[in-house]
Amino acid sequence: MKNPEAQQDVSVSQGIRIMFYMMKPNETSFRTLEEVPDYVKKATPFFISLMLLELAVSWIRKGKPPGRVDDSLTSMSAGILSRLPRLFSRSIELTSYVYIWENYRLIGLPWDSPWTWYLTFLAVDFGYYWFHRMAHEVNIMWAGHQTHHSSEDYNLSTALRQSVFQVYTSWIFYSPLALFIPPSVYAVHLQFNLLYQFWIHTEVIGNLGPLELILNTPSHHRVHHGRNRYCIDKNYAGTLIIWDRIFGTFEAESEKVVYGLTHPINTFEPFKVQFHYLIYIWTTFWATPGFFNKFSVIFKGPGWSPGKPRLGLSEDIPEVTGKEVPFSSLASQLIKIYAVVQFALLLAFYEDTFADKAALSQVTLLLRVCFILLTLTSIGLLLDQRPKAALVETLRCLVFLTLWRFGHLKPFIPSLSLAFEVDVNSNTCSLHSHTVQNTFLITNKSHSFTQSVRILKNGHVYTLKGKTEAGADQSLAYGLSLSPPAFQSSSPRGDRKRSKA
Ligand SMILES: [Zn+2]
Ligand SMILES: [Zn+2]
Repeated sequence: MKNPEAQQDVSVSQGIRIMFYMMKPNETSFRTLEEVPDYVKKATPFFISLMLLELAVSWIRKGKPPGRVDDSLTSMSAGILSRLPRLFSRSIELTSYVYIWENYRLIGLPWDSPWTWYLTFLAVDFGYYWFHRMAHEVNIMWAGHQTHHSSEDYNLSTALRQSVFQVYTSWIFYSPLALFIPPSVYAVHLQFNLLYQFWIHTEVIGNLGPLELILNTPSHHRVHHGRNRYCIDKNYAGTLIIWDRIFGTFEAESEKVVYGLTHPINTFEPFKVQFHYLIYIWTTFWATPGFFNKFSVIFKGPGWSPGKPRLGLSEDIPEVTGKEVPFSSLASQLIKIYAVVQFALLLAFYEDTFADKAALSQVTLLLRVCFILLTLTSIGLLLDQRPKAALVETLRCLVFLTLWRFGHLKPFIPSLSLAFEVDVNSNTCSLHSHTVQNTFLITNKSHSFTQSVRILKNGHVYTLKGKTEAGADQSLAYGLSLSPPAFQSSSPRGDRKRSKA
């Protein structure tokens, strides 16, 4: 069995290649789902680096940035929102897949065969094409996916504008794969397919010649994000554009693309960006007479209304004049700088929360998520210049101080990289190793329970808590301490396993 910890490390060169699906089967094949790295989580520095590169290229070429602060912050907020459910559970795309694999699989392809790897690459991309097409052609699925299309700019930050509840429908399209493809192979390609789609959200890359025939490229995906009539319902591809060519939904880029929804939402509030269309469906559902018509409101296309074809009429789509002005924030430059600073701090907090989630109690995790939601809302209200923005921001600052006072935010303890002792409070657990990333790897030999680890350093005892699953290797982050001051003078005792750094 491969060492799971070694597999978790992604080098810089791998990180760059992952963003372009340039990985080889032998470096990304894993026996179990638990060994599969969270590539998407590890991609944050690459997202930021590529966005800075895009900014530099755009500045050099055009003398202006590739997007606007208000629009980019809203896109990145949606990216954060869409990932928050992962703090509490595995995504439904994986949970449902594992369930089908364990109960209904017909054959199990070998997880370590390159053939399985390449077949899964094609199968996941094919599944994505049909999911994406249905996300545009079925109104209730569009309610989730429209979030991704609501940006009126087109740059790398747009790629991060993701829906919170899209995954609750996308899993259906990948389920048939669970009849024969191991979950670990599927989990790798699901992530690579998503990550590949990051770099194609840019205007700084033009035509890529022969690659345009096979791959989904920035040019093809610009068409997909257009609201010009020729762009509607075109180019659904994830990685390979061949699916659109085969199924008749391909359209090459021609006249200048105007981005965004055909009816722009004109807001930067993260919850409206996510949920406004669900409310629209709700009101349309009740306003439409007749049972079959109500059914059609939910399952036919977003452009449908009684008497029209399933996907609506092309002439109902507002004609693009080229004079469209994107919705912009009226906030002052100072407020925008304030919003950027608060967002950058939140991003660090969000990253910490994911890194430390095994060591955080459910209450702390929940409070942190509420604080993240409050911060994103407040930034949105500031950008929208709503009257209640000042009140909400003041409230947010008070909540911050309260959480800080009661220890739910990260205390600034010095790095625990020096020699220390470790006290594992149960015979059923063994401590394997400690890594430079402030984590312990613990194997729990019996049942699942809440594990606590005490670390002694410089005369202080730090206590960590985390739920461990039976038989599973688990990392326990110790970057933060939940130890109250009263613990500080106590000394470790009892059945102790010692470890020197
Ligand atoms: Zn789309
Ligand atoms: Zn896109």
